[in-house]
Amino acid sequence: MTALWHPFADMAVVDGSEVVIERGDGAHVIGEDGRRYLDGTASLWYCNVGYGRSEIAEAVGAQLERLHAFHIFGEYASRPTLELAERIASIAPVADSKVFFTSGGSDSVDTAAKLARRYFEQVGEPDRTLILTRDWAYHGMHAYGTALAGIGVNRLGGVLIPDVAVVPWDSAAALAATVDELGAERIAAFFCEPVMGAGGVRPAPPGYLEAAREIVRATGALWISDEVITGFGRVGDWFASTRFSLDPDLVTFAKGVTSGYLPLGGVLASPRVAEPFWQAGAGAVWRHGYTYSGHTTACVAGLVNLDLMEREGLHRRALQLEGVLHSALAPLAEHELVGEVRGGVGLLAAVQLDPSLVEADPSLPGRAAAACREAGLITRALAGGGLQVSPSLVITEAEIAELAELMRAGLDRAAAGAPRAAGLSASRP
Ligand code: PLP
Repeated sequence: MTALWHPFADMAVVDGSEVVIERGDGAHVIGEDGRRYLDGTASLWYCNVGYGRSEIAEAVGAQLERLHAFHIFGEYASRPTLELAERIASIAPVADSKVFFTSGGSDSVDTAAKLARRYFEQVGEPDRTLILTRDWAYHGMHAYGTALAGIGVNRLGGVLIPDVAVVPWDSAAALAATVDELGAERIAAFFCEPVMGAGGVRPAPPGYLEAAREIVRATGALWISDEVITGFGRVGDWFASTRFSLDPDLVTFAKGVTSGYLPLGGVLASPRVAEPFWQAGAGAVWRHGYTYSGHTTACVAGLVNLDLMEREGLHRRALQLEGVLHSALAPLAEHELVGEVRGGVGLLAAVQLDPSLVEADPSLPGRAAAACREAGLITRALAGGGLQVSPSLVITEAEIAELAELMRAGLDRAAAGAPRAAGLSASRP
């Protein structure tokens, strides 16, 4: 019996069959039982610089001894927090952006959504309260993120925030129609994952992002890039918004900013949004923030993480490897269990199980992920029945080839009828 209530888990099944990971090293993790796995997921999409980085551990240890944390409310700050804000501002997709720190991705989404509404209140357009989101979207699990979920089952429990509308994930025409129907002047913001992550790794169709950006610009609403997954090198640049020229008004980030060595998140606010709050004499205090916003030691982890990425060119590496990963996985599309392979943008892909097989047997994605683990590869079943591929950015070309082989071996096992997986449901972050 375990006392640990696992997120997104059927505890009746997970209880007693936990997979306990003990160590990590590069793109691999090692279980308590000594088994070594190639981690195809970089944990929950975050371990961009790979496991076992002693430089981060040493800097974190030294900071914990000096000052583990001091808050940043009002006029207080700590030096690492100030430095990380400067550092992130210097690589932001929009020049002169300001950095509002949070403690994770869901915090960042709620922060951005609240800021969008507060911004329009401040600039005299208080009727702009609606926020648009896309089918398949995953924007975390706080109240706003839950309301903004494009994965229907993640909204179970009732409507938390009513001022939300969901549009198709891939149609600019449908977005334009929704804007017309709701009234452009009522819309505060459009949330967009430049490459959809937890909803099954769905790169936007050609032309979609450009067209959607123009539609949102014309409404006067804010464009919010949710870069909790795509930020910090996952798609071959510091931010996907830079790669795709999205000119975002707000950017949410978390995960890769520290590679998960300590939890941290934040929101980048472009000059448009920041200015009404920074103007001398405006007296526009934004009454928002979290106890652990910009946690001192988490920011040290962030600074060393970014040093490593820069020194080793990891922020560009996904661009170099995206073709390699896609070519390695593409042949799996012929496998009897597979419908298609999605990816080709950064170190992000999904091996989508055949939807008709998933419909006939909803346990298949979980079983396939467990069978891959048996073969030595950690992957996860995403919403819609795709298997997640998002390895650490330090993965080598040889390890990418190995990843594809292990995935095939796992699929073969699953096709041969591997046992039921432990409580995995196909609708997780
Ligand atoms: N936004 C996106 C795009 C995500 O993928 C996630 C988590 O996977 C979140 C927000 C929520 O982040 P967190 O789990 O750190 O709260």
